[in-house]
Amino acid sequence: RLALAKSRAAEDCHTACGRRIEVVANLASPADALLAVANGAEGCGLLRSEFLFLNRDTAPSEEEQLAQYQTVADSLEGRPLIIRTLDAGADKVLPYLGLPRETNPALGLRGVRTGIWKPETLRTQLRAILRVQPYGQCRIMVPMVATIDELRTVRTMLDEERRTLGQDKPISLGVMVEVPSAAVMADVFAKECDFFSIGTNDLTQYTLAMDRMNPHLAKRVDAFDPAVLRLIAQAAAAATANGRWTGVCGGLASIPLAAPVLIGLGVTELSTTAATVPEVKEMVRSLSLERCQAVAREALSQESAEAVHRLLSSYWPEV
Ligand code: PEP
Ligand code: MG
Repeated sequence: RLALAKSRAAEDCHTACGRRIEVVANLASPADALLAVANGAEGCGLLRSEFLFLNRDTAPSEEEQLAQYQTVADSLEGRPLIIRTLDAGADKVLPYLGLPRETNPALGLRGVRTGIWKPETLRTQLRAILRVQPYGQCRIMVPMVATIDELRTVRTMLDEERRTLGQDKPISLGVMVEVPSAAVMADVFAKECDFFSIGTNDLTQYTLAMDRMNPHLAKRVDAFDPAVLRLIAQAAAAATANGRWTGVCGGLASIPLAAPVLIGLGVTELSTTAATVPEVKEMVRSLSLERCQAVAREALSQESAEAVHRLLSSYWPEV
């Protein structure tokens, strides 16, 4: 264990002034995990579990899920693994779930709402995650949470499944902050979860009311918009005030220029694509917390995404 800790020390990422920032990777399949580790990822900040559910006629069994999660956990060799529960609905259609046809799927039964609509699907997934060894390597994160009762419903299911399995130790449970209401109500959520992970893709889509898949809006669905940054600031501040940590797993975390702003807002974990881990680490290592906080304050007071981009390129013209 000591040898392992020593060999991992070089992989740990700190700012130049010594603040620990975990740089982890987003994964969408077991194969991704090996590439992420090879690139220096300190774990997984978002395993998109949809890969197990898409392109098939029935939901994967508990055993099948367990085998896949265990493979990812083993490939990460003890590094933390955050598994996001199924984020079906909207663009990710699973006919066997029998969801009703919707005229407005982005605002319909998706994310955690699907899991509450089909509790057996969510319970099966929770049991599979709880059975991964060693217990504690996995953390669980819930997508598209909009109201506190959704978090409580999942918490209750998780506690029940944990008891069924005879597991008395709690497991870390996080909320994805990707619906504006979760950021606005972050002080309430922070009291009942262990961490936040900001999903900037959906948070931007829902804050600006701009479809993230619409090619005509692609340039304007910009996570650097100060409206989005202010919501991130609010969530991170609420987490810190309640002794919780905040990560970012949306696309913004993979942009090196976003690191100073996010760290300045209080984020301590960045989950990037496997390919961008080295660049993001290099950026983090060049920063001081004081400078990040100054840049973040300035960014929050800008009037538009363009103004934030101008500000950041004036500080880092070479990036
Ligand atoms: C996000 O919304 O930022 C996110 C990480 O989730 P996904 O892109 O899978 O919706
Ligand atoms: Mg999302």
